[in-house]
Amino acid sequence: MADCLFCKMVAGSIKPDIVYEDADVLAFRDINPQAPTHVLVIPKDHIATINDIAPDHDALVGKLFLAAKKVADIDGIATSGYRVVMNCNRHAGQEVYHIHLHVLGGRQMSWPPG
Ligand code: AMP
Ligand code: ZN
Repeated sequence: MADCLFCKMVAGSIKPDIVYEDADVLAFRDINPQAPTHVLVIPKDHIATINDIAPDHDALVGKLFLAAKKVADIDGIATSGYRVVMNCNRHAGQEVYHIHLHVLGGRQMSWPPG
């Protein structure tokens, strides 16, 4: 998607602070971090929202979680704990319409979220 911010990161025309990358996913630090660790994990393929995830994306969606686990290991928060969140559409506050897991950790989280 030519006008998608996260597709531009995958293409390399915008350079994020990359934490982890493989053939299918890219993980980079959020520009406006809400916790000591705040990393976004995206598929390299453009999928706009959770509602657009198709049955043949099942392996790819699993790889997002495997990458989130790797990010937690890299930042040393696997044992202390972390939260993984994906927002969908307006009521959840989705701002970038290319699905992404938020990996948040390094501080105590509260529940329920706002
Ligand atoms: P969401 O509201 O779930 O769509 O999350 C979008 C996230 O992308 C927000 O946490 C933003 O801070 C983050 N973001 C926006 N632009 C950039 C950027 N250029 N680099 C890194 N993160 C960004
Ligand atoms: Zn995209």
